Order: sequence, then C-alpha cells, then structure tokens
Amino acid sequence: MSTFMVEDVFRCPQCGYHVIEEVQENVTALSLVNAIGEGGDVAYSPTAVDCTDETECRYECFQCGEILVDEDGSPIRTTADLYIYLNTRQPTLSLPPKKEKRNG
Ligand SMILES: [Zn+2]
Repeated sequence: MSTFMVEDVFRCPQCGYHVIEEVQENVTALSLVNAIGEGGDVAYSPTAVDCTDETECRYECFQCGEILVDEDGSPIRTTADLYIYLNTRQPTLSLPPKKEKRNG
C-alpha cells in the first residue's frame, strides 16, 4: 500500500494539468456548521465529500473539466477506482517524479 501525491502522478490526458477535482453529483454544495457565536459568527468544517458506491461522484481535471474514465470508458466514481486509475494509467507513478521529461 502506498500513498502518493496526485500532482506527482496525474497528468490530464487533455491538457496536461495535475489537479483532480472531485465532484459529487446530486449535491450542489455542503458545509458543516461546526460552531456558532453571538451575532451569527459561524465556524465551518471543511467540506469532505465521501465518495463510495452509494454516493455518485466523478473526478475531473480541475483546469479543463476532462472527466476521468476507466479502461472501459466509464467515469470513475469512487476513491478506490481513482487509486487504481492513478496506479495503472499514469506511467509516471513508477518513475522518480520530475527527473526527466519524455518527449514523443
Ligand atoms: Zn485537463
């Protein structure tokens, strides 16, 4: 089991950007209200989207909106699938990051 930085291993197939955005479908946005003080001063906890099989999410390039798909062309829906995607589809994962650029 290994953990890696997405920015090190992800390159958008469309634009080459390195940030993945997680979008939860059927939910516009949510924040948890953690605390509230006099006058309505509210403290929020960071929104954490928990994408499981029961919660439809998709993953897309933060820059161009390219939706990440698996080998069958189905959109990736869970973090487990996302891990597999990054582990198998991104050739840079097994290489030392930023050492050498391959030009085709
Ligand atoms: Zn992109």
